[in-house]
Amino acid sequence: MQGEQYTMDPMSESSTPRTIRLYNERPQALSAPAAAFEAATALVPNGAVEDRLHRPLRDLRISVTDRCNFRCSYCMPKEVFDKDYAYLPHASLLSFEEITRIASQFVAHGVEKIRLTGGEPLLRKNLELLIAQLAALRTPQGKPLDLTLTTNGSLLARKAHALKAAGLQRVTVSLDGLDDATFKKMNDVDFPVADVLEGIRAAQEAGLGPIKVNMVVKRGTNDAEILPMARHFKNTGVVLRFIEYMDVGATNGWRMDDVMPSADVIQRIASELPLIALEAAAPGETAQRWGYADHQGKHDPSAGEIGVISSVTQAFCKDCNRARLSTEGQLYVCLFANQGYDLRSLLRSGSSDAELASVIGHIWTDRNDRYSELRAALPHDAASTAPGARRVEMSYIGG
Ligand code: SAM
Ligand code: SF4
Ligand code: SF4
Repeated sequence: MQGEQYTMDPMSESSTPRTIRLYNERPQALSAPAAAFEAATALVPNGAVEDRLHRPLRDLRISVTDRCNFRCSYCMPKEVFDKDYAYLPHASLLSFEEITRIASQFVAHGVEKIRLTGGEPLLRKNLELLIAQLAALRTPQGKPLDLTLTTNGSLLARKAHALKAAGLQRVTVSLDGLDDATFKKMNDVDFPVADVLEGIRAAQEAGLGPIKVNMVVKRGTNDAEILPMARHFKNTGVVLRFIEYMDVGATNGWRMDDVMPSADVIQRIASELPLIALEAAAPGETAQRWGYADHQGKHDPSAGEIGVISSVTQAFCKDCNRARLSTEGQLYVCLFANQGYDLRSLLRSGSSDAELASVIGHIWTDRNDRYSELRAALPHDAASTAPGARRVEMSYIGG
């Protein structure tokens, strides 16, 4: 099943370098496990499903659109996502009712946090209606979900209040620098920094905090922005997180040389703004947290904190409790998976909630994905140089 799709080929008989073969792309989906339909193996949710590596299911990321108004070079490069690119037709998209129905089965299995993403989620029409439906879900213990959204910020100033009123709790905003020329080079659509900052301000005013800002660091492109970003967001209550540029998707031409390891990011910031390592706030948290030190070298909580997400240099698969639902209803149990499980056809062929829950439970209990850990065992660049390597794009699966 899913785990076997990453064919590790450590020392194949040929003289080719070690590769992780990733050969499928978007339209391919596994039908849900047939066994899940049989009453004898029905899996009833108890809020505590675990995968083969004993990881619970806590976090669901839902992509609500595969479209975006940016063309970030590391995600939707212009040369590929051009005017001829075949985006999903509207009928393929899950409706809000379908998303909510699927999400409620995930919640029954233990999901406590839902993140809406994309593409650019704020491009999806009437997103507030979906937010209101998801905000009404309760965990088996009767608690509301941690409901959040990741956005490029371009439409946030306009929408922040409506999102909050619909029941959204927090937002994460992506911003790759404060220098306009650098940021425009990253978003590739000439979008100015000031408008994103205005979105962040509006989100703060609407109470969509604590706000996180994600900065993907590409060595040689925007690493000069690390310190200005840290200075800017220190003392503002915004948590700035530096993300290592990942080899996700198959179109961004990823090379290990473009990755700026988190350790270097921390070193650079600490050279001017002394830092202190903080404990993880929650199990499965992707970011390592750092606080600012005061003049005595003690942690100063009032200065705020930063985080580093080291998906490349320090794999965190062992605590990974995330599932991803694509725009058209494919379930992916790893960001680097090459195949999803087609939940939409289950929904549209009249499956009951119990059947849906059982299928989701079986998929999760069968999961043993740990792509980043496996990649870490390979020589630099091996994961990206496999000829014809194909994997799902981040804009489709949701980051
Ligand atoms: N459009 C929204 C945005 O940019 O915030 C949401 C979707 S985007 C795919 C989600 C997150 O993935 C963003 O913070 C983005 O910077 C990050 N991302 C996209 N491609 C990446 C890559 N190759 N490596 C690391 N992070 C990436
Ligand atoms: Fe769009 Fe977000 Fe991808 Fe940039 S990272 S292209 S904003 S989906
Ligand atoms: Fe989770 Fe897959 Fe990323 Fe590992 S590589 S942390 S299993 S999404």
